[in-house]
Parts: sequence; C-alpha cells; structure tokens
Amino acid sequence: MRLDATAELHAFRAEVRSFIRTHAPGRRTHAGVRAPEPALVPELRRWTARLYEAGYLGRSWPVEYGGLGDPRPEPGFVVAEELARARAWGQVGAGALASGALLAYGTDGQKRRFLARLRSGEDLWCQLFSEPEAGSDLAGLRTRARREGDHYVVDGQKVWTTNAQHADVGYLLARTDPEASRTRGITAFALDMRTPGVEIRPLREITGTADFNEVFLDGVRVPADRVIGEVGDGWKVAGASLAQERSSVAARSAELRNDFDDLLGLTAGPGTGGEHAPLDGGARGHLGRLATHVYVADLMSKDVQSRMAAGTDQPTDPAAVKIFYSETNLDAVSLAVRLQGLDGLLTEGDDRAVAGGYWQDALLYARAYTIAGGANEVLRTTVAERALGLPREPRP
Ligand SMILES: Cc1cc2nc3c(=O)[nH]c(=O)nc-3n(C[C@H](O)[C@H](O)[C@H](O)COP(=O)(O)OP(=O)(O)OC[C@H]3O[C@@H](n4cnc5c(N)ncnc54)[C@H](O)[C@@H]3O)c2cc1C
Repeated sequence: MRLDATAELHAFRAEVRSFIRTHAPGRRTHAGVRAPEPALVPELRRWTARLYEAGYLGRSWPVEYGGLGDPRPEPGFVVAEELARARAWGQVGAGALASGALLAYGTDGQKRRFLARLRSGEDLWCQLFSEPEAGSDLAGLRTRARREGDHYVVDGQKVWTTNAQHADVGYLLARTDPEASRTRGITAFALDMRTPGVEIRPLREITGTADFNEVFLDGVRVPADRVIGEVGDGWKVAGASLAQERSSVAARSAELRNDFDDLLGLTAGPGTGGEHAPLDGGARGHLGRLATHVYVADLMSKDVQSRMAAGTDQPTDPAAVKIFYSETNLDAVSLAVRLQGLDGLLTEGDDRAVAGGYWQDALLYARAYTIAGGANEVLRTTVAERALGLPREPRP
C-alpha cells in the first residue's frame, strides 16, 4: 500500500522526497536499527532538528510543545516510506519512546524542557529498561533508586542499551519500593547520562558492530523532579512505551517493502552481482508467498499505528504485528541470501559480495527483531492468553 490516496498526500510525498534528497546526511549502509559512527552523530543531530522543524517528526504533538497538533497517521507513514526508500537516517535513539512517555505522563516543565531539546537534536535518548536478569521478565528488574532529600540515588545494571554511547538522556526504570509487589514498586526517570557513576561499556555483536551497551549505575544522583509520572507508576508509563516500541519495530515494514523490491533484483540472474541459484518452482512459490506476507505486514503495521493514534487499539495489537513483521523480515533476508547461491557465503568487505554484503549483515541482524521489544515466544503467549482468551500458563 502506498498512501497516495489524496492529492494532498501525493503532494506531501513529493515534498518529503525532495527534502530528503536535498538535506539527508548520507545513506544507511546496514539493515536494522544500528548505532551510527561517532563522527556522524553531530550531523544526525542537525538532521533530527530539520525533520522536526519541517513537521516531519512530532507532527501530532500539541502546538504548545512545537508540534502541529495533527492526529492523522498518514503523513507519518509517508515520511517513514520516503526515509526507507532513500535509506536515509531517521531520528537516532529512543526519542520517540521518551516523547510518548513525556506527553502522556510528564509534567508541563518536563515537556517544555525535554521536548524542546529533542526537537533541536540536543538530546539523544536511550532506553534503560532491560537488565541481565530482567528482559522478558521486566517486572523482575533490580536496579534500585533510594530517595535521599531532593534526589534519588540509583544503583544497578542495565543491558542491551542501544545507542547509550551517544545518549544524553536515559529513559530509566528503577525500583523505588522493594516491598511493593513486582510491578507496583517501579518508577520511571529521565537520567542525565553524564551524571557521575554512569559507566557505559559497549557489547560487540555477531554483526561485528557494537550497537548495544551495558550500563552500570553506581550511586548515581537523579533530581527528584526527573521522575516521569507518579512514583511507583513506572510500570504504567513503561507499558505505553512498550506498545509504542513494538509498533515501531513493525513500522519497519516500510523498509521491508523496499528490501523486497531489491530482493526481486537478485532473481535476475548472472550479471546482477553474481551467479545466482536457478529459480526453481520452490523458490518461485516462496517469493510469491513472501510478496503477500510483506504486503500484509505493511498493511497490519499501518492499521495498528492508525488504531493506536485513534486510541482504538487492543493491548495485544502491537505484539501481533511485531511477531508477523519480524518473522516475515527474517524469511525475506534468508531467501535473499539463499538466492545468491555460493555468493551467499561472501560477506561485507569482499569485493564480490552481492550488494556489498548487505543481505548477509541483514540476515545476522534479522534475529534481533524477533527479540527487541519482547521476544516473539513471550509475545505469542500474550496474544494467546489476552487476545484469544486461552488458559493462562502457570507462572513460576
Ligand atoms: C535489537 C535490540 C535492541 C534492544 N534495545 C534495547 C534498549 O535500547 N533498551 C533496553 O532496555 N533493552 C533493549 N533490548 C533488550 C530487549 O528488550 C530484550 O532482549 C528482550 O526483552 C528479551 O529479554 P532478554 O534478552 O533478557 O531475554 P530472556 O528474557 O533471557 O529470554 C531469552 C529467551 O528465552 C525465551 N523465553 C524467556 N521467557 C519466556 C517465556 N515466559 N515463555 C517462552 N519463552 C521464554 C525466549 O525465547 C527468549 O528469547 C534490545 C534488544 C534487541 C534485540
């Protein structure tokens, strides 16, 4: 589905396309949500500011916080499609999650400060939720925040923090009441990542890059006015963000549509980058099925985003679409590598690698989407129990 149903959207697409062509800083060379090279970060901050200024990001925000107060999701779909088409960078980091939490639960002062700094590209956010023993079981998180006068003192460890190495602010969950039941004693904070006691250690991944980090918090002092929402209400604040995160993973379907078009190019045979496996009946059937799935993932994603914008979504909608997108994406990139025959063994850095090794890297990264925003195995249980009403699994 391309959203040119109205003349207005058609004209908007042309405007966005030209804007990206003129201003975007370079093209992304890897699939997935990858941390940029440090040298590129200042340029990406300026690019983020331009996207907000043009009304291409934060369009639905209230006017008093710099938005256009436009609740329609369609312009956002067009922007996402055009960024994907150009393989241009979008906003780096967890800014979309943080702004959602602040708009829903932040004080007026927090909104004025943090939303303005997000818009100007001054603040790049990361998400400090997962811990070594609390990923799927997020309610088991142990990072502790103790009140001391007008501050909280935070001790603990986070992991899988994407872009922490570049972040100015962390959207942190910590336990403020160890006596309360698991979900009740958690509070959300906006943590200045340059506070003494914050230590960031990169994690090198199978892709060879370091997109994630471990973050150690040792006696970190956070002013009490940096609590987002009520003390003890962090689970509620995070719940809205996790739905947003799942739907934004699925929103990468716009990118998958482009990847699929490129994938079709791989079937053209010799002269297009290598000797490809002959397209037997099995591969043709696979491509046909995949074409349908890619199309459906895009439609589902836009449907869920539309319903979230209108407030008519069901709690399990983002989980269902995230499962469908991530497994379709994995299927697509696996087929892309298989279609390359023996060339599929060549990776980035080898002159003969098809498309510079893009597909091999995409295949390694594709597993990440089946885990990010909640592992698909766990989300399947959520859908089975909450959407289908199947009996609950006994909890340990
Ligand atoms: C690309 C990516 C980016 C991420 N970015 C961030 C970030 O910026 N900030 C952040 O806080 N976190 C981030 N994460 C972490 C992510 O939220 C966790 O990886 C996820 O919640 C799973 O937690 P875990 O890795 O601890 O796996 P675990 O909870 O240890 O689970 C491991 C596996 O066990 C299985 N499993 C566990 N529990 C169950 C169950 N109840 N039923 C069935 N199977 C189960 C699942 O297969 C699961 O994949 C990111 C992850 C990825 C992949």
